[in-house]
Amino acid sequence: MQKIDRSYLRKFRYSVQWGIFALTAFSGYRLYLFAEHFASGYKTPLVERPPLVDGFLPIGALMSLKLWITEGIFDPIHPAALVIFISAIAISAVLKKAFCGWICPLGALSEAVFKTGRKVFGRNPILPKFIDYPLRSVKYMLLVFFLYVVGKMSSGALAGFLSEPYWKVADIKMLGFFTEMSSLTFYVLLALFALSLPFKNFWCRYLCPYGALLGLLSLLSPFKITRREEACIHCHKCTANCPSLLPVEDKVRIKSPECTGCLTCVSLCPSKGALEMSLPAKKSVRPLIYVILVMAVFFGIIAAAKLTGHWHSNVTYEEYKAVIPAISELEHP
Ligand code: SF4
Ligand code: SF4
Repeated sequence: MQKIDRSYLRKFRYSVQWGIFALTAFSGYRLYLFAEHFASGYKTPLVERPPLVDGFLPIGALMSLKLWITEGIFDPIHPAALVIFISAIAISAVLKKAFCGWICPLGALSEAVFKTGRKVFGRNPILPKFIDYPLRSVKYMLLVFFLYVVGKMSSGALAGFLSEPYWKVADIKMLGFFTEMSSLTFYVLLALFALSLPFKNFWCRYLCPYGALLGLLSLLSPFKITRREEACIHCHKCTANCPSLLPVEDKVRIKSPECTGCLTCVSLCPSKGALEMSLPAKKSVRPLIYVILVMAVFFGIIAAAKLTGHWHSNVTYEEYKAVIPAISELEHP
């Protein structure tokens, strides 16, 4: 066996994931300062609203996408929500569900939590199939629900929602979910944390409708993890360490919608040529080329949006001044 060391891939992925996590956390803090300026009666300094937080408005982004496709209107209130949504969709359709494996801050957090659980409990238990299968369908049911609700909305209703005062401050409302946490929210988050400690990627695997959509789109991607039996020494490292619990060692090509293209299996495989990210006809793609493509699609779409004026919100200071002080009275339309 010819040995290979690709541990640099894991270090690189953690750097990307936690870099984006830090950027997102910083954006959340900037959003808090932005909202505080209005809530404090303009006593605190005004900071620029960070568009990156729009990534946490996926349902609004789904509405925006439908309005854009059907009416050609690109939502000017939270354009970054649609831009991030489009980039996640594009990555999935072409390069597998790598948005979840490389970019999503919740993915990074989820992985850190189950790895902590592994240290605490000595392992990450796997739910029996009769519980795992029905639970995995929950995220698809949530996806169908959101697609049905948004699909049923007329263009007029979509445009109406996206011009409501509520949508203007939907990001600040979401922030309030954490800064003014209700006891129900606290207990739900605590339960999620408790389940995410022992079980690998509990939120992503069972509950995230965004990941469900990206997983289904990833079936279109020509990129697949491919194992070559002649080089495989059956060391079991790939299967044992796959965050998505995929039986890599037993497959030739991983076609599952659960594969996030995280390359953990590739980075741990000790046998040269046994496991690669490949195109059809087993045409291998160097791991770093694959990652560069993922980053190029994500940051390229954001850069294009910035250059064409589709990144920053057009809500004016005066409009925020009118809406934010009365934010607690705004209900979801
Ligand atoms: S099969 Fe490999 S690339 Fe896919 S999720 Fe599992 S470890 Fe990551
Ligand atoms: S990591 Fe997986 S593909 Fe690589 S040698 Fe071990 S069992 Fe085979």
